[in-house]
Amino acid sequence: MLGLHVLRALKDNFIYVLTSEDGQQATVIDPGEAAPVLKFLRAHSLHLTHILCTHHHHDHVGGVAELVDAYKCAVIGSQKDFDLNRIPRGTLAVSEQKPLKLWGRSVHILDVPGHTLGQICYYFEPEQMLFPGDTLFSAGCGRLFEGTPEQMFISLRKIAALPASTKIYFGHEYTLHNLDFVQSREDNQALRAYREHCEKLVARGEPTSPSQLSTELAINPFLRAPDVATFAETRAARDHF
Ligand code: ZN
Ligand code: FE
Repeated sequence: MLGLHVLRALKDNFIYVLTSEDGQQATVIDPGEAAPVLKFLRAHSLHLTHILCTHHHHDHVGGVAELVDAYKCAVIGSQKDFDLNRIPRGTLAVSEQKPLKLWGRSVHILDVPGHTLGQICYYFEPEQMLFPGDTLFSAGCGRLFEGTPEQMFISLRKIAALPASTKIYFGHEYTLHNLDFVQSREDNQALRAYREHCEKLVARGEPTSPSQLSTELAINPFLRAPDVATFAETRAARDHF
């Protein structure tokens, strides 16, 4: 079994650390800053072998160079971001056609343009864990900085097609504010129950990550949008909320 640890960084970013079965190696996902990762690795005597980047935004790659200096680890990003030279110290490009080999296992890549054009998700099939970066948040989705509503709609459909028990390790703690938006437009028991659950976590100082795909399919209007027009209208409303 892989270990999974949730670190916090910057204002509201999550950094995820995976640990190998033997408890000696670590892979970090989206290190927006190095300090919390270095502290964690040292405290647990872990050797960092890989950094996985979901996209090129600074709050996801800001810590990469310092971690490479410390551990000489591999740095993985999308082929598209490599073509645009946007992954600092990048060593290996991946895509849907070119999955990642990590610690003897194969990690699926989903190409999910929308938030950025080079955005990818990492999907660990045996563990049913998805790292969507800023494509999908709990009760929300990423802003369309580079892609079109249609691209993002298709990207979210790819995620929606994964097993419903998939755990979603999203990139930012935006959940309660996202729920404010959703509940300003609709009200139902699933939303009220989920909000209560998340408020308890936040009150205890715990992350609302991970969510589960089945939960998002019930409460996330971006994942539930039936067509591109509905998705685009919802995204535009959220931009101005
Ligand atoms: Zn981003
Ligand atoms: Fe971000």
